[in-house]
Amino acid sequence: MNGQEKASRTRIGLAIEVGIVYFHLMPVAENHIVVVGGGGAGIIASWRAASRGCPVLLLERNGRLGTKILISGGGKCNITHDGSPDEVLSGFTAEERRFLKHALHRFTNRNILDLLETGGITAAPRANGRVFPVNGIAKDVMRVLSGLLVNLGVEIRFHQRVEELLLEGGRVRGVKTGESFIPARHLILATGGASYPQTGTTGDGFLMAEQSGHRLVKVRAALAPIRIRPTIPGDWQGVAIRGGCLSVVQNGKPIARWTDDVLFTHEGLSGPATLEVSRAAALARETGPVSLRMDFFPGKEFQTVDEELQALIRMQPGRMIGTLLGQWLPNRIVERLLRSRAIDPEQRGHAFPRDQRRLVVRLLKEWEMGAVEAVLLERGEVTAGGVALGEVDPRTMESRRVGGLYLCGEILDIAGPIGGYNLQAAFSTGFVAGDTAASRVQNAT
Ligand SMILES: Cc1cc2nc3c(=O)[nH]c(=O)nc-3n(C[C@H](O)[C@H](O)[C@H](O)COP(=O)(O)OP(=O)(O)OC[C@H]3O[C@@H](n4cnc5c(N)ncnc54)[C@H](O)[C@@H]3O)c2cc1C
Repeated sequence: MNGQEKASRTRIGLAIEVGIVYFHLMPVAENHIVVVGGGGAGIIASWRAASRGCPVLLLERNGRLGTKILISGGGKCNITHDGSPDEVLSGFTAEERRFLKHALHRFTNRNILDLLETGGITAAPRANGRVFPVNGIAKDVMRVLSGLLVNLGVEIRFHQRVEELLLEGGRVRGVKTGESFIPARHLILATGGASYPQTGTTGDGFLMAEQSGHRLVKVRAALAPIRIRPTIPGDWQGVAIRGGCLSVVQNGKPIARWTDDVLFTHEGLSGPATLEVSRAAALARETGPVSLRMDFFPGKEFQTVDEELQALIRMQPGRMIGTLLGQWLPNRIVERLLRSRAIDPEQRGHAFPRDQRRLVVRLLKEWEMGAVEAVLLERGEVTAGGVALGEVDPRTMESRRVGGLYLCGEILDIAGPIGGYNLQAAFSTGFVAGDTAASRVQNAT
C-alpha cells in the first residue's frame, strides 16, 4: 500500500443500527452515487446518473459487466420486446403492470434501442416480437453499454462483492465489501435475483434488502425447466413437441397454460412452453400436488381431431396405428402414449376399434404427463419473488423504508415472460433509479 492509499484508508467509527463497527474507508468522490450490480439495471442506472453529471461508482462482484446480457437470447441478446409501452406492459401480471407503468413509459424499448444505435448497434424485431441486434452478437451490445459508462467517467470496480448495507437514522450511510467501507448517501441496489448463481446472482441483494427492513415475497423460479415423475425416459432427450398447449393442473383444474414448444432434456421438461408455466407450477406446488397436461392440438376440438384421425386411417388403412400417429407426433411419445392405455401400437388402422380411437383422441387432447416434482430455481432464467413492489415507489424506485436507497431490476418481485420483457424491465427501472438518485443529489447541493 503506498502513502496516499494509507492516508485514505483511515479507520473510521460508524454508528449503525446494529452497533459500532470499524472499517477501512475507501476513497470516493463527494456526493457520488454508488450502484451495486453491473447487470442491465445497474448499467442503465449508472449511465443515467452519470449523464446527468453525477459522479458514479459501480461495484460489481464479477470481473465483467452484463454477464446475463451476454448469455441472453442464447448469446444473441434478446434486448427487448417490440410494440408500444402498453403492449410491452401487457406481458406482465396486473400487479407488475401497475408498478412498471411509469418506468416503461419513461424509458421505453425505443429508448434502449436508440442508445445502442449511438454505438452502431442496429436491432430488429422478429416475427414473434423479440428484438435482437441484427448481427446477433451480445458481446457487441455489452461493448457499447460499457463504452457509454467509460465515456461518462463512471468508476467501475470489479471483484467487489457488497456484503452489507450500512444505515444510520433510517438512511443509507454506505456499504461494506470485505474489509472495506464505502460511504454512500445515495445507493442503487441492482443485484438481480437468485437464479443462475454461477453468473453472480446468489441473492445477496435480497438478504441486504430484508436486513434493512424490506418485505420480501418468497423467491421462486420463473422461466425454469420442470422435473416430473414418472421421469422422462433417457432416449427422449432432444425430442420436441411442437406447438402443443402445456397446462399446469391442480385439483383437476388447469391453473396456467401456454402454447409453444416443449423439449425433453436430461433435466425433464424444458422449451418455451415449459419455461412459461414454471412460475405458476412453482407457486402452486407450495399448496398441494400439481401435474402437467398436454394438448397436442390446441385450437382443435375433440371432434375435429377425431375426424382428422379417421381421415388419416381411411387414407392408409393397412398401416399400424403407431406408424400413423408417428406422422403427427414423435415416435417415442406415440409408443408411451398408447402403452399408457394398453393400446397395441401395431394394430392396423382398418381394424382399430372406435372406442380405442376415441381414447387416442382423448390422449391427444389431454395427455397427463406426470406430477411436477421440482421447478429448478438455479436454472430459472428469471427469479420470481424478491423485494415486494409495495416497498418501492414506482415513480422513483426509492425505497419506502430507507432514505437514499433505490432498488431496480430483478431484485424486485417482477418476472416477465420470455421475449425481452425482463431486460426491458431492468433497463426501465434502472433508468428511473439513476434519474431519481441524480435529482436527489443535485437538489441537495
Ligand atoms: C440464460 C438466461 C437467458 C436470458 N435471456 C433473456 C433474454 O433473452 N431477454 C430478456 O429480456 N431477459 C433474459 N434473461 C433475463 C435477464 O437477463 C434478467 O432478467 C436481467 O438481466 C436482470 O437484470 P438485473 O440488472 O436486474 O440483474 P442481473 O443482470 O442479474 O445483474 C445483477 C448483477 O449484480 C451483481 N451482483 C450480485 N450480487 C452482488 C453483490 N453482493 N455485490 C456486487 N455485485 C453483485 C451480479 O454479479 C450481476 O452482475 C435471461 C436470463 C438468463 C439467466
